[in-house]
Amino acid sequence: MWRHLEYANNWGLTGLIKFYLIFTQKYFMLMALILMLYEKEKKAMTNIPEEFIKKLTQQIGDRFIFSDPEKLEAYNFDGTDFTFLPNLVVEPETTEEVSKLMKLATEYRVPVIPRGAATGVTGGALAIHGGIILSLLRMNKIISIDEIDMTAVVQPGVINFDLHEAVEKKGLYYPPDPASYETSSIGGNIAEDAGGPHCYKYGTTRDYVLGMKVVLPDGTIMNTGVQTRKGVVGFDLTNLIIGSEGTLAIVTEATVRLIPLPGKIITLLAFFPDIHALSATLYGITKNRIVPAALEFLDPASVNTIRDRISIPVPKDASTLLIIDLDGESEELDRQMVDVGEICLDNGADDVLLADSSGKRQGLWDVRRKLRDFIKEGSKFKRAEDVTVPIRKIPELIEGCEEIARKYELMNHNFGHLGDGNVHVNLTHKQKNEQVIGQAKYAAKEIFELTVKLGGTISGEHGIGITKQEFLGIELSQPSIELQKKIKQAFDPLNILNPGKIFPGS
Ligand SMILES: Cc1cc2nc3c(=O)[nH]c(=O)nc-3n(C[C@H](O)[C@H](O)[C@H](O)COP(=O)(O)OP(=O)(O)OC[C@H]3O[C@@H](n4cnc5c(N)ncnc54)[C@H](O)[C@@H]3O)c2cc1C
Repeated sequence: MWRHLEYANNWGLTGLIKFYLIFTQKYFMLMALILMLYEKEKKAMTNIPEEFIKKLTQQIGDRFIFSDPEKLEAYNFDGTDFTFLPNLVVEPETTEEVSKLMKLATEYRVPVIPRGAATGVTGGALAIHGGIILSLLRMNKIISIDEIDMTAVVQPGVINFDLHEAVEKKGLYYPPDPASYETSSIGGNIAEDAGGPHCYKYGTTRDYVLGMKVVLPDGTIMNTGVQTRKGVVGFDLTNLIIGSEGTLAIVTEATVRLIPLPGKIITLLAFFPDIHALSATLYGITKNRIVPAALEFLDPASVNTIRDRISIPVPKDASTLLIIDLDGESEELDRQMVDVGEICLDNGADDVLLADSSGKRQGLWDVRRKLRDFIKEGSKFKRAEDVTVPIRKIPELIEGCEEIARKYELMNHNFGHLGDGNVHVNLTHKQKNEQVIGQAKYAAKEIFELTVKLGGTISGEHGIGITKQEFLGIELSQPSIELQKKIKQAFDPLNILNPGKIFPGS
């Protein structure tokens, strides 16, 4: 599997295969030797000296330092198909322990990879050069919830769902809700600026983080931002670190903003004959000054995937589905429900249904959250992208994706957040082999080019990690990439925090 070998971190099998391939071509023997020396160099960097482990153990104890093969293997994956074995796993319980680890990692030049719940889908939490996996999941306390300021202070290992539950008990709401919210951590959400269905109305993780405690790559503990609901002192380091995919600093505490829990929530389903009606429908809704809490769409292939999994009858000819959440107070909601239903019908909906019990709502959202997995069933290969375009360009993007998928003989399912133009493009194939992987890569490149041409971005929420770095230049200009690399250097001059992520060759 060439794709795996590209990222392999030792020169056992990788080195030998590369050597063999190049050697048999005779001309490039010298190049093979240089390549192997380079691989050896990389391995040397990731060797963790006994002395390092001894010092770390003296400083933080041996309870949460692991090097046994089973434990290393348990930390070799994330939400991608790739696996990379770390050399060590450390699971600290305090900011001070994280700081001590980073001071030693700096002294010994050992790469450290922060890791939350490992649901990331672009490889951000993988130890691609070996080194230390720093699991933040033991730091999982909700430190405080302030009902007057409407803020909460949380550790990074808190699972998004647990924060939702805890604040909702007090009549408060933390809106960011990635589809992985039952498993992903707040630290991972911050590092990826995670979004979700309800981010259309309420914004993404970024909009809710007021301040953080972070550990810099050299072990310095620093506060960013504020504990108050606003503040403008100095550069906005909080927002620089949010979405930086664990490459600038390790988040060990966050103060998040909360809002009042909406009184009531209802869900409508509207079935349309095709995707073209979507933008007009959204325009109709916003023109009526209605902002749905969520506005998710499923294309015909995705509708067929869930047809038999939801208890709600899907009209036989329906090909495109809109799931609309409305939230607010009862009277206002009733008016909005009628208006939105009419707008859908005016724009060609075949039918509009109300999920009239919380059980039905939950059931529907459960199916929607698992759609990624359902699409994968029956396919040996899947490549998923999360491109985002201006809303009115969604139909053009989807038609383009379908054409590109056909060209490369791939199946294509599209679904996503209509309200913020975020389209999850899922390319699948019954087989997984080099040809299919290569075809999907070409297809992804064309999809990214189309997205940028339509005024969009190549990632709305999943980030770049290792899977998209070769396409970074499609969207970002060279000066922008160079400036960002300088920022990384200012935070991490030795490149020990999550090296090899976001920027090609980093
Ligand atoms: C089924 C499924 C559905 C998903 N749906 C969505 C969705 O709707 N919206 C969305 O945005 N994403 C979604 N994702 C992607 C993923 O869940 C998010 O990116 C999530 O924020 C990752 O959180 P995590 O705790 O799993 O982080 P990890 O995967 O462990 O790490 C992700 C990145 O964060 C860094 N990191 C982790 N913790 C810290 C920390 N404390 N300090 C610094 N860096 C850190 C890691 O180094 C890595 O680069 C989905 C994934 C799956 C599998």
